[in-house]
Amino acid sequence: MRLLTFLLLAAAATTATAQDQAAPRTALVIHGGAGVIERASMGAEAEREIRAALEAALDAGHAVLAGGGSALDAVEAAVVSLEEEPRFNAGKGAVFNAEGRHELDASVMYSQDRQAGAVAAVTTVRNPVRLARRVMEQSEHVMLIGDGAERFADDHADLERVENTWFDTDARRGQLERARQREEAGRQASAEPVPGQYFGTVGAVALDAQGRIAAATSTGGMTNKRWGRVGDAPIIGAGTWADAHCGVSATGWGEFFIRNAVAHDICARMAYGGDSLQAAADTVVMQVIPAHGGDGGVIALDGEGNIALPFNTAGMYRGWVAGDGSRGVAIFADED
Ligand code: ASP
Repeated sequence: MRLLTFLLLAAAATTATAQDQAAPRTALVIHGGAGVIERASMGAEAEREIRAALEAALDAGHAVLAGGGSALDAVEAAVVSLEEEPRFNAGKGAVFNAEGRHELDASVMYSQDRQAGAVAAVTTVRNPVRLARRVMEQSEHVMLIGDGAERFADDHADLERVENTWFDTDARRGQLERARQREEAGRQASAEPVPGQYFGTVGAVALDAQGRIAAATSTGGMTNKRWGRVGDAPIIGAGTWADAHCGVSATGWGEFFIRNAVAHDICARMAYGGDSLQAAADTVVMQVIPAHGGDGGVIALDGEGNIALPFNTAGMYRGWVAGDGSRGVAIFADED
């Protein structure tokens, strides 16, 4: 009897191991920005289009993971898909700066050897996340900005270039005009954004079947920004982080995310303090950032395929395929 029990247990263990090997956990989380996103003010058509765009980005990233591809390829595929959607503030549809132009920021980080690449204030690269990956893989540097980043792009002829006006959309021009009117009316003493009045940055974090984690973020920044302003999205450790155990992509009022090293802080709380992913992400997003007067949200995952998507704004465009196989997209705070 004892022998039979042993044999049964051994068989069960073998099966479990075989299953683990056959279907390793992969996971993918994406965002399309956080901010004042309310049911009452969103039209049905806009909502449908946004949900479809989130699903398409999940499909793009998840196809890579399901095919045995790398987390790095998965986040690039998901973010490119979101950059191409004009409703999000990245690539086509990016916000205007104070001069009526677009300056785009993007970054990527990969747990393999802690590689990272970033670009800031680029003006003619159709998919800035692709340029950030080139900086990571094909330069000795982590971050290139402005003219230097454009010149680096010149050496990579396969990266599509566009006129700066190609990024224009009527909706973003309207936002710039309203921001200028607010400023002229003196309601904003400085060029400071109104809290919560921005959204649309995009990002993705993935865990692949080999246990590698990658994170990427891409944005036009904040409407009416000036003087070469760079937000958190291209700052490794602020808007983007990926190490062997944890990955994060952020969205929100970038200055607060930089000052609080948000993406790195979440992973550090897990590594040094033993927090769970959810506890670490919740503490930073729901306590640390608001305590300093900022707002926004993050998407995050850990090496087990657990996910966390906290935000302290009215909404955050988000989607997930978690390690347990659950999948969904959501916009408002009362979903999931
Ligand atoms: N974090 C971005 C920035 O500050 C903006 C956003 O997430 O909407 O540039």
